[in-house]
Amino acid sequence: MNVRRRTGAGARRLIPAAALAAVTALGAGTLTACSDSAAAVNTAKFDVVASFYPMQFLAEQIGGRHVHVTTLTSPGQEPHDLEISPQQIAALEEADAVLYLKNLQPSVDDAVAQSPVRTRIEAGSFTTLEHHGTEVGGHAAAHDTHEDEESAGKDPHIWLDPERYAQVAEGVGRAFEKADPAHAADYRKNTAKLVGKLDALDSAFRQGLARTRTKVFITTHAAFGYLAERYGLTEEAVSGLDPESEPSAARVRDLERTAEADGVSTVFYETLVSDRTARTLAHDTGLRTDVLDPIEGITGESRGRDYFAVQQANLKALRKALGAK
Ligand SMILES: [Zn+2]
Repeated sequence: MNVRRRTGAGARRLIPAAALAAVTALGAGTLTACSDSAAAVNTAKFDVVASFYPMQFLAEQIGGRHVHVTTLTSPGQEPHDLEISPQQIAALEEADAVLYLKNLQPSVDDAVAQSPVRTRIEAGSFTTLEHHGTEVGGHAAAHDTHEDEESAGKDPHIWLDPERYAQVAEGVGRAFEKADPAHAADYRKNTAKLVGKLDALDSAFRQGLARTRTKVFITTHAAFGYLAERYGLTEEAVSGLDPESEPSAARVRDLERTAEADGVSTVFYETLVSDRTARTLAHDTGLRTDVLDPIEGITGESRGRDYFAVQQANLKALRKALGAK
């Protein structure tokens, strides 16, 4: 579906009453007949419902053969806009655990809060969150409508920083061990392996970005704040945390000045959202465009088949744009 819904600040998203009624009418017994893949829970394995790709990847890597993972956000769907379906709400109730990231998908936050699911694993609770790009608002501002004052408005894009993602992996590993103690030894082993790979990725970024002509990069979607901070870079977002909002004329002039002063070569855009803004800006400023993937989903368009492959592609794109030596 290409129709994207904008929700202004102050509008609280609720699960439609019709959706809840449909779930009640379905009853648990009919769920196995449902063709929605997200409803295929309640298997003999440890059933985990993951909210979107970075959570799915953690569940699969850590859970290995002991878990059955379903994902609420289909590949290619921009996750921020997900509207959870009645089948998915029903699947949540049947799951052994839900693994999600608060403040990214309001519809998921609401569904999890209202669900009787046994084990709730919230990825953001295992690492530190910060405010990024608050001066321009965007979807983090829209998330201020949630009652959780602590995390409201903070940047949810923690998985793009390998070190934070490793902290989340360790937390998820512990949660799996607790919820499914029969396979604790395997979860521990798988977590250690994943964390090792994330440490290696962190080293690759650190070394690959240590010496560059410039430290500044421009993106359309302000998803790379944690990554930038980790490696001493500066992310200039065209229009804030919202991947689709149009930049003002003043913001474009601002970016033109930044591009010139800091020797910026490239305007980055992402795969799941239109590149129109990036192309317009690049045209106006004489810059190149390239993809920097926020890894919110993996599709045929992605420059790699999993998190690690796409992060390596991101590193390559950054090295080129920043003039790595
Ligand atoms: Zn995002």
